[in-house]
Amino acid sequence: MAWANGGATRTTTKEHRRWAKAVLRRDGYRCVDCGYQGTAGKGDVNADHQTPVAFGGTTTLGNGRTRCVPCHKKKTGREAAEGRRRRRQRPAQRHPGIPVD
Ligand SMILES: [Zn+2]
Repeated sequence: MAWANGGATRTTTKEHRRWAKAVLRRDGYRCVDCGYQGTAGKGDVNADHQTPVAFGGTTTLGNGRTRCVPCHKKKTGREAAEGRRRRRQRPAQRHPGIPVD
């Protein structure tokens, strides 16, 4: 799948790895949603963007949250639904006082 390949590329950059490690260490490798205690280097917890990059989130410590794999998947699923909803409900962008062209 094209998106999966793009995601893999994005998450294997040096900057992303450094960010992920900082987030996981700050949270003590514990899932912020269910409290699952992960293990360093095991891959059972991930650093997640609280506000997804697709919605304008940044790869900063403040926007990072540690989540276990099931919670990460659940959140990603919610975000996909939210993205579909936003696209449907996006209002027409108008500037009433300014004539177009
Ligand atoms: Zn969890």
